[in-house]
Amino acid sequence: MTLRFLCLLLAFAVSSCTSDEKPTTPPADSQTAPPQPAPLVEKKTIADWCPEHGVPESICTRCNDSLIAGFKTKGDWCATHELPDSQCLECHPEHKAKFEAMAPKK
Ligand SMILES: [Zn+2]
Ligand SMILES: [Zn+2]
Repeated sequence: MTLRFLCLLLAFAVSSCTSDEKPTTPPADSQTAPPQPAPLVEKKTIADWCPEHGVPESICTRCNDSLIAGFKTKGDWCATHELPDSQCLECHPEHKAKFEAMAPKK
């Protein structure tokens, strides 16, 4: 009787010991942790660009004629072409490269 009891006890101890060493389920924390949001997600920059006129939208007098007065006040105005002189590529073809560099890349 006693020996049988010890055998059972031993078997229980061994089996419990074994189960401790080899957990059937991995620690939940390491497995169920939510994936971190990728930090290098490409930021969507607000495109300040008027594709129609090839200038930044924020200074596009053809889309926003309330800007015209400001350019005229600064003396940055081409009356011939009704454009800020700094945006008038007819008079200043050298500005073209500058605006092309500012244009958002597709
Ligand atoms: Zn425009
Ligand atoms: Zn001009």
